[in-house]
Amino acid sequence: MSGVAAPDRTPEGPVGPAASVSSRLGGALLAVGGRIRDGGRLVRSRWRRSLQFRVVSVTMILGTVVLGIVGSYLYQQVASGLVEERRATASSEVLQLTKRAQTLLEVTDKVQTTDELYSAAQNVVQEVVGTERSRYAVLVRGEDNKVQDVILPPIQVGEVGVTSLPVELRQKVAETPGVQQTQIISVKLAGEEDPVPAWAIGQQVIVPRAKEYGLYFVYPMTRERETLDIVGRTFFWGGLVLMFLIGGVAYVVTRIVVSPVRRAAEVAERFASGAFDERMFAKGEDDLATLAKSFNEMAASLQQQIGQLESLSRFQQRFVSDVSHELRTPLTTIRMAGDLIHDSRADFDPAVSRSAELLHNEVDRFEALLGDLLEISRFDAGAAVLDLEPTDLRATLAKVTDSCEALAQRKGSPLAVEQPSEPCEAEVDTRRVERILRNLLVNAIEHGEGRPIELRVAANASSVAISVRDHGLGLRPGEAAMVFNRFWRADPARARTTGGTGLGLAISLEDARLHEGWLQAWGSPGQGSCFRLTVPKVAGAALEVSPLPLNPLVTPSADAAGNPGASASRPVRPSTSPKVAVARSGGSRP
Ligand code: ADP
Repeated sequence: MSGVAAPDRTPEGPVGPAASVSSRLGGALLAVGGRIRDGGRLVRSRWRRSLQFRVVSVTMILGTVVLGIVGSYLYQQVASGLVEERRATASSEVLQLTKRAQTLLEVTDKVQTTDELYSAAQNVVQEVVGTERSRYAVLVRGEDNKVQDVILPPIQVGEVGVTSLPVELRQKVAETPGVQQTQIISVKLAGEEDPVPAWAIGQQVIVPRAKEYGLYFVYPMTRERETLDIVGRTFFWGGLVLMFLIGGVAYVVTRIVVSPVRRAAEVAERFASGAFDERMFAKGEDDLATLAKSFNEMAASLQQQIGQLESLSRFQQRFVSDVSHELRTPLTTIRMAGDLIHDSRADFDPAVSRSAELLHNEVDRFEALLGDLLEISRFDAGAAVLDLEPTDLRATLAKVTDSCEALAQRKGSPLAVEQPSEPCEAEVDTRRVERILRNLLVNAIEHGEGRPIELRVAANASSVAISVRDHGLGLRPGEAAMVFNRFWRADPARARTTGGTGLGLAISLEDARLHEGWLQAWGSPGQGSCFRLTVPKVAGAALEVSPLPLNPLVTPSADAAGNPGASASRPVRPSTSPKVAVARSGGSRP
């Protein structure tokens, strides 16, 4: 029994060699598809980013269209000129030849039989065609010929027979005796692959006894077609070369314009990134030189103004720092005196006792403000640096909630903490993170209208986040972006039991920046607020996505990346402020 070859297909699909061929084919197709996609992406990105590429491409595309239109118009003109010229020469030649054939046919009236007449007619046609190889002739009985006793079969000289002659042409010849009729036909010639267009020119002749016959001459336009082929090829290659020349010219011209613009952009970029001494090369009197001169003038003026502002700002920072320092000593004395009076308030009459209490509270506020001012001036002077240590932020949060528990109870806001059971460790400056969290929590208690406050801790692969959510007044549209401004308050008249300074969130923001973290706010009137701190697990690593949502009203996936469009939040990107050690905490937040 002969063996049966295993089939290439199973119900599941092809196996064996067929499977490997189809999988290889599929792989090759995928690779080609990938290359095409990569190419498309590359072209799209070059198109977006390079003015030069756009100009050269558009010039080449428009050049191709214009060359195509002009080329095909010229080609048409040449073609119709050649065809028309061939028709004109052939037509006048045929006029002569027909006249001569008619004369020769008239002398054949002496022949007796139809056969003799046929061979005489053959001779006539042969003679008028002569040895010329570029024309053929056909003599065929006219369409309206009524003579029945003498009928000559068609006579053909050359490769073209009666079947190549269109019926309409033969009818027209029969209907218009003495008038020449022309028509373009297509003939199949030996040695030519494709049918060749040809002029067919016919006129009626009278054959003695056999009456009306059509004498047709066919002029194939082989040479004209060859000429047109050459013209077409010349146009194509000429057009291609011209297109690349146009592209080359566009490239050179745009390079002349774009190169200085690119240099200007580079200079502007360096200038914008702080290199205020950068200037553009300005030589000549053309438009680009004028642009460069204007840019340089603008840069010089900006540099001067920035210098002035910087020295003013330095002066202000110094002033704030000096004043704060200077106030510390008298404040300490006032504090001691105030404490003394406060401690003995029971001995005073009620009005004085109340004043002693007020004095005590205001001295507290004054101390806090002074502390915050000193802290801010340290950030401004770039004198703040992180004291990093791996910290479980759950413990930091626990410490903060413990210290605020009493205040929360006074305000009637229960604190609820939601955190994972495993540690949420990050390299942070614990003291600063604690200060941020305390500030957020105290604010939530202050503005939480006695409603519950939710605190959440979460971590992902690269970051840890803590969010503080209250259900109090919330923030009006646009306020989430302003809460971090120094001394900004939604309602300056609102009484504070803890004596806030208006600098708390500004300091928190600077602390978050030092960690290269994000401090973001969300709020909605009547719906409460949510503040979220996100820090990288490894100090200095870039943050990409926060493990917690900022806007509690949208789904976490839409918001967790800290997308400011998703809510009224303000993502705080790390600043470039230098890190210098802070001798001690200036934070005076509760
Ligand atoms: P302070 O609390 O001392 O006024 P902050 O910088 O801490 O200064 O806060 C600035 C302002 O931001 C507050 O005065 C308040 O208007 C607003 N704010 C802060 N936290 C909240 C919150 N949880 N809910 C509503 N508004 C808030």
